[in-house]
Amino acid sequence: MTQAFERVASCWCGDLAVTMRGEPMLVSSCCCTRCQRRTGSFFGVTVYFHPDQMVAQRGTPSTFQRPDGEARFHFCARCGSNLWWFVPDDDEEVLGVAGGAFADPTLPGPQRMVYTSTRHPFVRPPDGLPEFEDGAD
Ligand SMILES: [Zn+2]
Ligand SMILES: [Zn+2]
Repeated sequence: MTQAFERVASCWCGDLAVTMRGEPMLVSSCCCTRCQRRTGSFFGVTVYFHPDQMVAQRGTPSTFQRPDGEARFHFCARCGSNLWWFVPDDDEEVLGVAGGAFADPTLPGPQRMVYTSTRHPFVRPPDGLPEFEDGAD
């Protein structure tokens, strides 16, 4: 990782924030119903990093481990913003950060859209964006 620049992702009230160093590994948008219910939006945008790229944290998160072990979420106990989560990936974990929490237009846009099988018909991704009916990877 040669880039030394950092981006901060913050909850709405500012109690909870994380600082990420360098560019993300992947930015992915997902139309699955779990992301719809988690975000309250019609799709979620996850910015994936290696866990080592999280170089600072402010505040103490509340956590929620999905019973199926699929992901462990960290969110602000005061305002409820869901900020980051760990997803098992073979023997390791990858770190996902909520794309909107950066509120940063320089953040790279999604490189793919997954779970288009449950996408609302009015959600129109950019031309040429790779689409997957279910998950990718
Ligand atoms: Zn908050
Ligand atoms: Zn999803």
